[in-house]
Amino acid sequence: MCGIIGYVGDTDRTLPALLGGLANLEYRGYDSAGVAVGGDTVRVEKRSGQLDALEAALDGLDTPLGGPVGVGHTRWSTHGPPTDANAHPHTDAAGRVAVVHNGIIENYRTLRDELEAEGVTFASETDTEVVPHLVARELRAGHDPEAAVRAATDRLDGSYALAVVVAGTDALFAVRHGSPL
Ligand code: GLU
Repeated sequence: MCGIIGYVGDTDRTLPALLGGLANLEYRGYDSAGVAVGGDTVRVEKRSGQLDALEAALDGLDTPLGGPVGVGHTRWSTHGPPTDANAHPHTDAAGRVAVVHNGIIENYRTLRDELEAEGVTFASETDTEVVPHLVARELRAGHDPEAAVRAATDRLDGSYALAVVVAGTDALFAVRHGSPL
């Protein structure tokens, strides 16, 4: 099984806290790992494979990830093979909303069809990716981030846990529905 870690606090401690949390979750098994760090903007780094592949990618960045809020994820694939593109976090097209998810969104196909009909282009094969696009749609409709996450997750069927970061806020939004693990 897989895991989610979230952190809100000191900008410089976010990334070490996320990586430390993911290391503690490794025993659960996973095929991919990733992090999103938020604040004024949201940045994502993710890789298929083990944590050292993610850490190598992070070490290679010219500007290290830093910000007051972050989420990390280890993935156990259910929808789409373990590729970099299918690794979490997933984002909306503008990269302002990042989502990590454990479990299954049972009605994702219906939601994906609905979003694609509105012109949304998907970057992965996961059930998860509908979520950042739904949140972004609610933000565009004028909702604040908390209301947008609530409205988006009201659309989801299934057992899951989610963590969401939104550019422009240092809050972390966590949602649990049913028994995802
Ligand atoms: N269903 C999601 C996926 O395939 C999440 C899997 C998990 O729980 O890690 O990406």
